[in-house]
Amino acid sequence: MTKFYEKNYQERLAEIVSDPSLAKSFQEQAVFEHEKLIENYLTDFSLPVGVLYRLQVDGKKYVVPMATEEASVVAAANNGSKYLGNIQTVYQTHSRFGQILVVGDFDQINTVYQANQKRFKEIADSAYPSIVKRNGGLQQIHFRQLDGNHFSFDLLIDTKDAMGANIVNTILESLADFLRARNISVIAAIISNLPTTSMTELKATVSGIDQSTAKKIADLSHFGLIDLHRAATDNKGFLNGASSVVLATGNDWRAFEAGAHAYAAVDGNYKSFTSWKINSKNQLTASVKLPVSLGIVGGTINGLKSAQAALRLLDVKTSGELAKVVLATGLVQNFAALKALVSEGIQKGHMKMQHRAEGDAHA
Ligand code: NDP
Repeated sequence: MTKFYEKNYQERLAEIVSDPSLAKSFQEQAVFEHEKLIENYLTDFSLPVGVLYRLQVDGKKYVVPMATEEASVVAAANNGSKYLGNIQTVYQTHSRFGQILVVGDFDQINTVYQANQKRFKEIADSAYPSIVKRNGGLQQIHFRQLDGNHFSFDLLIDTKDAMGANIVNTILESLADFLRARNISVIAAIISNLPTTSMTELKATVSGIDQSTAKKIADLSHFGLIDLHRAATDNKGFLNGASSVVLATGNDWRAFEAGAHAYAAVDGNYKSFTSWKINSKNQLTASVKLPVSLGIVGGTINGLKSAQAALRLLDVKTSGELAKVVLATGLVQNFAALKALVSEGIQKGHMKMQHRAEGDAHA
C-alpha cells in the first residue's frame, strides 16, 4: 500500500478533504514549487510584506522587507526610524557554535581531545570541503565539563554567508563518529541556537524628542532590566520588527528567536534585549547585543522566490550585514513602542491600523 507521504498531491488531498470547496481553497493557495520543501505538502500560507523604507545602518540606507500579520508593525517601524538616524555597529563576530555532547570519564575524554587537535581539523575539513574552499570551516574546538560526567565539545565553525545549521551538523556528525570509534559515548551532535560566537552589537542616538519623553523612555527601558514580565513584552515588541525581516528573507525565525531569548537570560535573569539610557550629553542612546546566525544563501532561501526577492531588495552582501539590518529594524520597532507607551499609549496607533485591517468604517 502506498504510504500517505508517497502519494501525489491530488491523492493526498482526496484522502484528507472530502469537502470540494475546502479542497479548492487549499489548491488555489498552493505553490507547487514548494511541494519539495516539506513533507505532505497541502498548501501555502502567505503573509503581507511591507517595507521599512528609510533604515540607515553604518551609513548605508536600506529598504527593508517586513513580513508580518500584525497591523501596526510596519507603520510603527517607519515612524521609529525617523528618530534613530544612522544606527552603528559596535562589533560583530561570525562563528557558528556546534556541540558534541558526551558522557564518560574526564581523563579518558580529555586524553582523546588533547591528542587529536590536528586530526579534528582534518576530519572537519574533509566532511565539508566546499565551505573550506570558501575560507570557512572549523576554527576552534574546546572541551567543556558541564557536570561530573557530562561534557560538551564546543566547535566554532565559520559558515560564511549561510545560516549554517546543516553545514555545522554535517561536520559535527563526522567528528562524533571519530569520537565513538575511540570509545567515547556520544549522546548527540547538533548546532547550538545560542551562538555566543556570532554576536552583533549596535548603538544609536535618538534625536527629535523632548527631554521629558526621553527620560520616560530610559525609565521604561530600566523596567525591562529589572522585571521579567516587562522584559518579555519589550522583547516581543523588538521581535515584531526583527523577526519580520528574518521571516521575509526566508530565514529560520525560530532559531533566531531561541538564541535571542537564551541570550537575554545569559546571566541567569531574563532581561530586555535593548537598553535605552540618557548619556552625559543628555541624549537618549540605545544599544542592543544579540547572537544572530542568518543566511543570505542556503537553507530554504534557495526554494523561496519571495525570500530571494526580499534579499535583492535589501541589497545585503553578507550574512553579517543582514544580521545588522535585522537588529536595527528591531531597534527602531522597539523605539516606536517605547515612545508610544510613554506618551499617547500603544492602543491609539495600534487600533487605528487594526480597524483599517478589519475594514472598520469608524477607524
Ligand atoms: P545549506 O545546507 O543549504 O548550506 C548552505 C549551502 O550554501 C552550502 O552548502 C554552500 O554550498 C552554499 N553556499 C553558496 N554560497 C555560499 C556562501 N557564500 N557561504 C556559505 N555557503 C554558501 O544550509 P545551512 O547549512 O545554512 O542550514 C540552514 C538550514 O538548516 C535552515 O533551513 C534551518 O532551518 C535548518 N536547520 C536549523 C537547525 C537549528 O537551528 N537548530 C537544525 C537543523 C537544520 P556549496 O559550498 O557546496 O556551494
